[in-house]
Amino acid sequence: MSVRVVARIRPLLKNELDKDKIVEAADNKTVVRIPNPKNEAELYSFQFSSVYDEAATQQDMFENEVSPTVKHLFKGCDVTLFAYGVTGTGKTHTMRGGKSLADRGVIPRLLSSIYRRARKVEKDTANATQVEVAMSYYEIYNDRVFDLFEPPEKRTPAGLPIRDNQSGKAVVVGLTERPCTTLKEFEQLYDQANLNRSTSATKLNAHSSRSHAVLCVKVTQTTGEEVQFSTASAIDLAGSEDNRRTDNNKERLVESASINKSLFVLASCVEAISKKQSRIPYRESKMTRILALGQNNGHCVMILNLAPVRSYHLDTLSSLNFANRTKKIEVNEIENQPFFRDPLPGKNKLEGKPDAPAMNRQPLRP
Ligand code: ADP
Ligand code: MG
Repeated sequence: MSVRVVARIRPLLKNELDKDKIVEAADNKTVVRIPNPKNEAELYSFQFSSVYDEAATQQDMFENEVSPTVKHLFKGCDVTLFAYGVTGTGKTHTMRGGKSLADRGVIPRLLSSIYRRARKVEKDTANATQVEVAMSYYEIYNDRVFDLFEPPEKRTPAGLPIRDNQSGKAVVVGLTERPCTTLKEFEQLYDQANLNRSTSATKLNAHSSRSHAVLCVKVTQTTGEEVQFSTASAIDLAGSEDNRRTDNNKERLVESASINKSLFVLASCVEAISKKQSRIPYRESKMTRILALGQNNGHCVMILNLAPVRSYHLDTLSSLNFANRTKKIEVNEIENQPFFRDPLPGKNKLEGKPDAPAMNRQPLRP
């Protein structure tokens, strides 16, 4: 399997309407083009699996990037979605989105699709197969894990411990797992948990997210004695901004250091996986360790959120350079082995979208 790395350039916001757009989708929406800050006549090009511009709707994002992974989830493969980018570029909009049907982000759409497919599987098997959905939702703040089903005042400052289980997989001890049988139930739990997310004001955005929010949706398919698990994880990453720009006090600097480290480890893992290196440093940060990034089978989509305006210029370039390492992700394409069944390694190769092409940073002569 390989990761799809796609870029999404958000529209100008109401207070930016008089600003120039310096970031554009080019080459049939496969390239992001941006000027060299030191010489604006020179343009840099970064290639992606796909580039979405301001015309892209929430439905487009879901249909093209997330919907195709749902069938793999039901075959027992894990799905991991990341939204990466500077605060204010549209990560939360892409993942969670707004309240109206049209504004809903990929997460509620994914859940809706999971429930639809679950009902179909049950119907097609005349209820011989039963599908259950459960969610956990936590944030990683300053490298500590907090259950978003717990209100902030009940948190222990050290966060929840992580231990390796018998099969060597890192698990968060004491994390709440809530069954949710309908979309409505999911949305109630998700909204309630989102109120518990740590946010703090920075110069960039009044509700800047300084934590990684990790939603895990566990799908359990039971047919008689046979049980198959798979997980869809959707991660709204902390803002990747350069903290020199945000007028940070000491607390902000501690946050920034921990955010930078975990994003660096994420990039390193993705790079190692893409280069098929045997050592993937996924244990070097809590997020990649819990996600077992590159250790599990499955399908990964990284959405790089970008703002089109000059005030983000250097941050946008650093985001693009982050993705530049994210060329291709290769992980073992083995089904999650159901209990009580002979393992079938190598079966069910994903017939997913083509691999993300190598990203080139090439100055284009005007
Ligand atoms: P982040 O989570 O990366 O900090 P947000 O998702 O909060 O960014 O987006 C910042 C602002 O931009 C919000 O007001 C959001 O509604 C708006 N926005 C982001 N992306 C889009 C988009 N594609 N279309 C319309 N508005 C958007
Ligand atoms: Mg956000």
